[in-house]
Parts: sequence; structure tokens; C-alpha cells
Amino acid sequence: MTRPSPALTRPSPCTVNTVLGRISRHNRVNRAEAGPLAGRPGAWQGGERPGLPSRAVPTLAELEREVAGCTKCALAAGRTQTVFGNGDPHAGLMFIGEGPGAEEDRQGLPFVGRSGQLLDRLINEEVGLERSQVYVANVLRCRPPGNRDPRDEEIAACWPYLEGQLDNIRPTVVVTLGNFAAKLLLQTTQGVTRLRGREYPWHGAVLVPTYHPSYILRNGGGDQLVQMRADLVRAKQALVASRRYPGRR
Ligand code: SF4
Repeated sequence: MTRPSPALTRPSPCTVNTVLGRISRHNRVNRAEAGPLAGRPGAWQGGERPGLPSRAVPTLAELEREVAGCTKCALAAGRTQTVFGNGDPHAGLMFIGEGPGAEEDRQGLPFVGRSGQLLDRLINEEVGLERSQVYVANVLRCRPPGNRDPRDEEIAACWPYLEGQLDNIRPTVVVTLGNFAAKLLLQTTQGVTRLRGREYPWHGAVLVPTYHPSYILRNGGGDQLVQMRADLVRAKQALVASRRYPGRR
């Protein structure tokens, strides 16, 4: 039984709630008749699904090639290059940020500026892992001009790529960095300050919201840095509990 999927690949201007509503509906439908990236049976459910056949999901390489030529939203016009995401494709732990900044746009890699250096340090100190042992992606794959906030239609247009990355990597722990990723994945209008401090069951995985490292840098550390460290310890504990901590899988 299939029914038409929401046109996530052809968004029109809309509110955050409209975007979230679309994604919510999208997650509930059989996507066999959806767009080219969403056209596969089954929705992202996280974790392992014993007994079910593997799905016809575009590989990360296929997704990255499509992203490199993507013009689905206005951000394509201003980018130097797309920033797909990188890290261990078999990672149990995946970080999802907001969108590329100037340095990321220049290098084509996520979290390579000062925010990335802070993120690397915190991953190392609190999770006990190297950056190469996790996977890092963003809500958007092209830089918003002047580092402005992502717009609803841009988030909607880019969602199928993030969904495809989740489908491939199948993390058991997802850490959202900042407001936009947390709101998108938890389908809420609450900000990260209210959301953080606990973990959320999320499609068979565990979602841990925390601050974006650029927010920590802007505010000089302090209480927020202590809280972010605690969030990452929470993520590590969830990763160990899921038996996906490197060396234990
Ligand atoms: S931000 Fe995403 S949807 Fe928009 S052009 Fe870039 S890759 Fe395509």
C-alpha cells in the first residue's frame, strides 16, 4: 500500500512547523513513490532491524555525487562547493550540525574551522574517540550567505540527503549540535537550551541534543561548555550501552 509522499524535493516557502509536519508525514509513509532520493521502501528507523531485508538505499557515494550537483534550493548559487559530511561510515555515533561556515565552504569538509577544532577536542576528551571514529554531517550541505540561519525551505530541500546518510550509517546515538538539528529531528519548536540535559529515544536510536560549538565559542565557554561536556558524556554512555563503542562492535 503506497500513497503519494510529500514533495520534500520540491519545497515551497513554509514555516518551521510546516517543514516539520512534512517530515513527520514523510517518515510515516511508504516512500516507494517518493522522489529520487526518498524513493525506497521503509522510513529511517535507526538501529538494526533483524529479519528485514536490506533496503535499496543510495550509497553514501551516490548521495555525495548527487549533492555535488544539487540545485534544489537557493543556497546552490552562493556556495563554493557542497559539504556532504565525513567520518566513519560505520560509526555508531553521528553528529549533526547546522550548515557549513566559511572555512567548511572553502574546504568542502564539515567542522574544520574553530568550531570543528573545539568539537574534535570535546569528542576526544569526553567521548574518548577521534574525529575519524564518528560521522559528522549538517542539516544543510551548502553555506547560507553570511552564516545566516537556515530557512525552512532550505531545510526541507536538504532533508532527504541527511535522511540518506542516516539510512547508510544507521547510528545508535545521534548528537545534534545547536537549535536547528535538534528541532528538525525531534520535531519540536523548543530550543536546545530547553531540550539538552537528557537523551531522547529516536527511531530505535538515542538522540542527545547539545549546543553548537560556535555558540560555546561566542559565549566564551563557562557554564555552557560544562553542560556540553556533560551531554557528550551522556552520548558516550549511550554508545557503550548500544554496544557500538569502537572496539566493542
Ligand atoms: S543546501 Fe542542500 S538542498 Fe540546498 S542546494 Fe545545497 S545540497 Fe541542495
